Formats: sequence, structure tokens, C-alpha cells
Amino acid sequence: MDEASRLLGQGEDVKVLAGGHSLIPLMRLRLAQPTMLVDINPLEGELGYIRRDNGTLRVGALTRHYQIEQSADVQRALPLLAEVAGEVGDLQVRSMGTIGGVLAHADPAGDYGTLALMLDATISTNRRSIPASQFFLGLFTTPLAADELITEVSFPVASGPHRYIKFRRRLSDWAIVGAGAQRMDDGQWRVGITNAAATPVRASGVEQALASGASPAEAARQANQGLDPASDVRGSAEYKTHLAQVLTQRAIEGAT
Ligand SMILES: Cc1cc2nc3c(=O)[nH]c(=O)nc-3n(C[C@H](O)[C@H](O)[C@H](O)COP(=O)(O)OP(=O)(O)OC[C@H]3O[C@@H](n4cnc5c(N)ncnc54)[C@H](O)[C@@H]3O)c2cc1C
Repeated sequence: MDEASRLLGQGEDVKVLAGGHSLIPLMRLRLAQPTMLVDINPLEGELGYIRRDNGTLRVGALTRHYQIEQSADVQRALPLLAEVAGEVGDLQVRSMGTIGGVLAHADPAGDYGTLALMLDATISTNRRSIPASQFFLGLFTTPLAADELITEVSFPVASGPHRYIKFRRRLSDWAIVGAGAQRMDDGQWRVGITNAAATPVRASGVEQALASGASPAEAARQANQGLDPASDVRGSAEYKTHLAQVLTQRAIEGAT
């Protein structure tokens, strides 16, 4: 860890290499041209783990998607996280990609960001702990310094009804829009939306409506608050906003 941090401090264009499933495609397109890569895969012993501590599920940054999907601890402590991990990309992506890489990359279509935000997760680095609510600053933008490494993500334990729905054209695609719903152990709902703004969005309006006794259909009408989807080849902004409302309703109604 110390060596990785020291190497990362040697310049702005030095990059961490984790699973490589976002960084290598960017390099291939010449959108990223790092002067040096710091391969953190040899740190798997230190950064690849899943631990449950009372009410918290701690996941090391180098934990692969398939390890999260298949972990009995995750399935018991926070089954929504296992469900989401099983929906990331395809088998090759899930075999190599890491939870730390998804969060550091901060693609609004990344699935874990939504979960981290709606569940008030904490993202720890080699320097500090950052609440998820302060982590996603904009499109592909986080508060991480050039020589800062994500080490762990900690989620609250929640085993109640949950559902995450990704709307996509092919099974291995990123979400055009996604929605997640989780009923916490205190009975309150948490709801989040993927890829309908520059960052993941916590659907606080939906959560408040549910807390006041609204039906899922009524509550989902609040899902457009804070959204600002881009119109692109996958659909217009209006279409994506509509999708967010429909998927939110389905996620709440389908939560088991
Ligand atoms: C075909 C395809 C489909 C995909 N579908 C999905 C999907 O549906 N949902 C989804 O969420 N993701 C999807 N992904 C992305 C995948 O989950 C990547 O694994 C992820 O975005 C990046 O994780 P990584 O470990 O591969 O990171 P890398 O590609 O190695 O790194 C990505 C970025 O994060 C930085 N970084 C990595 N780890 C750390 C760390 N510990 N600390 C600080 N910085 C770090 C790197 O420097 C780089 O800037 C897909 C990827 C592909 C190729």
C-alpha cells in the first residue's frame, strides 16, 4: 500500500490499475494516456475481502464482482448488493472488475454508486473516510486525490425486501436507466436511480412519499426529482425520465 501510494504521487498522469475493465478500454481509445500504471492486483490479500462487523458489511476495494455476487456473507447481510453484483456486465467483466474500480471511475451508469448513495455507505481510502453522499461530485468526478487509493466500502446491513432493476437492450449492457429499492431493518425505504444524471441519484422524494404512506405508484411520481439525463442514442431525456419513474415503481412493488 505504501509503495502504491508513493508511486501514485509521482505525477498527475499516474493511474491505478485494478480490474482494467474501464481503464484499458479508455486507454485503447486514447482517452486516457497515463505515463505509468500502478497495478494494485498484488494487494489482493490486503484489499480483497468481505467482512461482516455487527451492523456493517465491509467490502475491500479489490473484491471482484463475482466474489460479491457469490459471497454467502453478502447474500445474508445485504442481498441487494449480491443481486447488483450479479447484474454487472458479463462473466468476463465480473471476473476481473472490482467494486473499488467502479466507484473510483464514477461512471453514472456504474451500479454500485447508486447502492452506496442510497444506503449511506462509507468509502474509505488510504487517507480518510468519505460518506457516499460526498463522493460523487459530477460526471466521472470524485474527491479522490491523484495518490489516493480506495481501500474499502462499508454498507449497513439490510436483509429486508429489495430489488434492483436495470433497463438495457442486451443482458451484458450497462443500464440505460436503473432503479434500486431497499426496505431497511427500521422499516424505512431507500431508493436510488442509476444513469439518469451526471451522478447516481438518491430518490429522497420517493422515500419521503413512501414514509408518508403513499402507494409505490404515487411515490414513484417523485422519482424525476434531481434527474438530468442526457439525450443520446439510447433514448431522449424525456424517455429516460419516464423510465426512471416506471423502474422505481417496479423496484418497490417487486421487492422481496
Ligand atoms: C463490456 C463491459 C460492460 C460493463 N458493464 C458494467 C455494468 O453493467 N455496470 C457496472 O457498474 N460496470 C460495468 N462495467 C465496468 C466494470 O464494472 C469495471 O470493472 C469498472 O468500471 C472498473 O473497475 P475495474 O476494477 O475494472 O477498474 P479499472 O478499469 O482498473 O480502473 C478504473 C478507474 O478507477 C481507478 N481505480 C481503480 N481501482 C481504484 C482504487 N482502489 N482506488 C483508486 N482508484 C482506483 C483507475 O485508476 C481508473 O481510473 C462494464 C465494463 C465492460 C468492459
